This record gives sequence, structure tokens and C-alpha cells, in this order.
Amino acid sequence: MNAPNKSGWRPALTLDRREGQTTATGNRALMLEEPLIFEIGTCETTGVDLPEATAGANRLGGMAREAEIGLPGLSEPETVRHYTRLSRQNYAIDLGLFPLGSCTMKHNPRLNEKVARMPGFADVHPLQPIDTVQGALGVINELASWLIRLTGMRGVAMTPKAGAHGELCGILCIRAALEAKGDAREVILVPESAHGTNPATAAFAGYRVEDIPATAEGRVDLAALKARLGPDVAGVMITNPNTCGLFERDLKEISDAVHAAGGYVYCDGANFNAIVGRVRPGDLGVDAMHINLHKTFSTPHGGGGPGSGPVVLSEALCPYGPLPFTELHADGTLTLVEEETGGERQPHAFGRLSAFHGQMGMFTRALAYILSHGADGLRQVSGDAVLNANYLLRSLEDVLDAPFGHSGPCMHEALFSDKGFAEGLTTLDLAKGMIDEGFHPMTMYFPLVVHGAMLVEPTETESKAGLDQLVLAMRSLAERARAGDESLKNAPIHAPRRRLDETLAARKPVLAWSEPQVPAGTPTLSEQGGS
Ligand SMILES: *Cc1c(COP(=O)(O)O)cnc(C)c1O
Repeated sequence: MNAPNKSGWRPALTLDRREGQTTATGNRALMLEEPLIFEIGTCETTGVDLPEATAGANRLGGMAREAEIGLPGLSEPETVRHYTRLSRQNYAIDLGLFPLGSCTMKHNPRLNEKVARMPGFADVHPLQPIDTVQGALGVINELASWLIRLTGMRGVAMTPKAGAHGELCGILCIRAALEAKGDAREVILVPESAHGTNPATAAFAGYRVEDIPATAEGRVDLAALKARLGPDVAGVMITNPNTCGLFERDLKEISDAVHAAGGYVYCDGANFNAIVGRVRPGDLGVDAMHINLHKTFSTPHGGGGPGSGPVVLSEALCPYGPLPFTELHADGTLTLVEEETGGERQPHAFGRLSAFHGQMGMFTRALAYILSHGADGLRQVSGDAVLNANYLLRSLEDVLDAPFGHSGPCMHEALFSDKGFAEGLTTLDLAKGMIDEGFHPMTMYFPLVVHGAMLVEPTETESKAGLDQLVLAMRSLAERARAGDESLKNAPIHAPRRRLDETLAARKPVLAWSEPQVPAGTPTLSEQGGS
């Protein structure tokens, strides 16, 4: 029954996945159904025609494979079609607006891609002699200098490979600085509204995490924070602008209080897009902050490319940043410092975070983005990002509850909740409805301080016409949810897959394909007459 038919197609295996099927093939117009490669390929088929290998003596010490490897094969055109069809089932920033709050899903300018593909950048190898990669080291240094100047800090560790990795870098710097003073503090304070990576990082670095409550305005409760400071507090981790989309106006006062109590201030800078060119975190007393190049500086992410999370450091933490770093000499040449030198620039490096220099391809893209915008262009980026978010906030607040709408304008993202929806309808239903309307859902149920949260971040790269389309879709869905339109519970109805059990998928992920057990007697599609 499971043997492939002549074309390799196994109808019985895919039947159950085509809910609401109305065509014989399961395809919908030119959106094509696509089984897994294990279901359509066979071991007997191959896309290449190589001569039989002449057997030499094998040197595998008895470890040579004896059975077939069992990988599915397809011809070249079948392979190309398989992966192209799968790629069409994905949503991407190049297809439409991607309003994921806190993720800054902005357009990735093609100029960046062109620059990153120049052979002098794309083809360098980390083990090349240093005198042959002066250009690449120059890119790292020039980007580093922009990041330091934009944030008003003293130094930057370029190697962290994502935001969360940058958090770890910053917290390890804080720990190294405290240890150097013989000061073994145990607690990191984290606001309730923090991104989940913050408490995870602090715990991973060996700290005990304690919550700081938020005020009714959605900001850190300064009095509660001050009351908790003491000789056991190593530092605080604060996001600014925070995940409610609000600027933490008291950050300078918070930093002064933390420093006075002997601790350090870590700022989660993932939301830097809202303030770039306008506020320098160094002026607010921040000691360490990661910058998500893949958010603020437009390098592709979310399946499109790796992240990159350089960490800017204050004067106090600079000596503890990780190796390696590039050193600029008076004659303009650059050297790569990979060993602890005991010298002036990095006497107490806490170690290394990655084998080489970090995400070189992302550095090239980010620098291309920065240079093509210039300082004035970056300032306009944050202004337009905030303007777009406020346009959404004010266009939707009469149909969607905006818990902090009364706190004044928002920063780069607008926060809503499902308060006011008819009984039984929730944030999840509206989010699934967005898929039917052709939009990737917004960030849901985060920040945790707001029940049924919906966090919408349009970014500056969307036009007013694009925002108006999103408003049209979200207003219609919000009105249906308020009116108790139960059909929303079935959304998405137009997607190739309907409501998936996401909790089950997260808790019990199926990471390897195994031949499904089809009960004997199950009719195949052709036996059913193609119904
Ligand atoms: C994205 C994000 C992070 C984590 O960054 P990654 O690059 O995904 O590791 C941390 N904090 C906030 C507020 C974020 O938005």
C-alpha cells in the first residue's frame, strides 16, 4: 500500500492533510500541494548519473555502511520544483507587511545584498593571513566605530551572533567586572515586561532573577526598583524602548541608583530602531547593550539569514569584553588581537564567544545600510518608524483596546489587547484571521504584563498605502471579534493548513520523518474516485 506508484506519488499518505479538499489533486489554483521529499522520492531515483566508483581499499576500520542509506532521490527538475513549491508556502518580508512587534521586520535593501556579495567580502576565509583581509577587518572596525558613536559608548564586542548571545556577552562582562573586584553578587533584576531572553540569560550566567513590577503606565516602577537595590544586586536588565512600546523616561535615574548601589545596567537594545540618531544610551548610564543588526540595521532574519548582536560597552566594562578584537595602528594597518595581551586595550577579556569574528556577512550588510542612510538618514529612520506605529495606534484604538494608549504617543510599536472581544473570542482568533487576510500575524501574548496582548510593529519601510491595507484588515477582524462572529474560530480557512496545534508542536516536536502507518483497508485517492 505504501509503495510509490509510477510517478512516486503516494496519495493515501497525503489525504488527511488536505482538509476541505475540493480538487482531485489537493492543489488550489496554482498554489500547489507538496508532500515531503520522503513521500515522493525513492531510493531508486537519482538526479545525477555518475560512473560506478572503482573500489579502492577502504580505510573506515570496519565502519563502512553495509545497507542502503535510504535517502530519497528525484530528478533535477523534480527537485527544483519540490523546493520551489515549498518556498511558496512561506511568508516573507518580500511578499508583504510583517507586523511582528519587537522583531523589526523591515525591508532588506538590495544594495546591502550587492555589497555583501562582492568577492572581496563574500569569499574571504577566517584562516587567511591577516595582511590579505585588511579590507574585511576595516569593515568590522568602521562598523564598530559607527555603533560606538551612535550609542555614545566606549567600546564594542562584535562577535556575539544574535541578540540573546549579546545579552550573554554583556552579563558575562558584568560578572567579570564584579569578580575582578572580589564582589560576588547573586541577583539580576528584570522588569516584568522583559523579553524572555533576559531572565533566561541572567539565569544561564548563574544569577538569581527577580522581577521588578511595572506601573499602570507600563513603565518600570522606579520606587520598587530603588527599594530592592542592595549589596546582592549585580545589575538590572532593562529594555528601552520597552516591550510595551514606551520609552523608559527614568532610565538615567535608574542607572544612577544602580551604580550608587554598586551594580551595572544592562540595556536590551533590540528596540534601538525607535531611537537611533536621537538618544545615546551611553548618556543614560547604560553599561552594556546589544544591538540587533538584524533588526535596526536591516540585515535579513527570521529564516532569511543569521542574526548578529554586537554589544556596546561603557568605560567600566570595556576591559572585560571578549576576544578577538581588531586594533587600528597609527599607520592605518589593522591587526587581529586573539590572545589576552595584558595590554591596555583588553587586559581582562572574559574569554571568547565564537571561533572567529562573528557574522561577517551581516557586518557588510549593516555597514552598507548605515553608509547609504548617513547620520541624518538614520535619524529619519527612527522618526518614521515611530510615526508609522502611532498611525496604527490611532487608526485602530476605537476598535481595539489600547492599554497604554492614554500614556501618550507610542514608540516604534503599538500595543493592543483582546479586551472587548465577545465571549469565547481571543487574540489567537484575530491573529489567525490575519492569515486569511494575507498578513503575517502580529506578536501575540507578549508582553506578558498585558492580557491577550497584540504587539504591532510596522517599521518605517511601509508606505501609508500599505499601512491602510493592514488597518482595513485589522479593523474588519476586530469588528468581527467584538460582534462575536464565531466563524473567526475556524480561521485560517484559506491557508493550505488550517488551525494547527501549536502547543503540541512546540512540546512534542516531530523532528524526523518516519513512514506513517496507514491502517489496512484505507482507500487511496484513486480508489475513492478522486473525491
Ligand atoms: C529580538 C529580541 C531579543 C533577542 O534577539 P535574538 O537576535 O532573537 O536573539 C531580545 N530582546 C528583545 C526585546 C527582542 O526584541
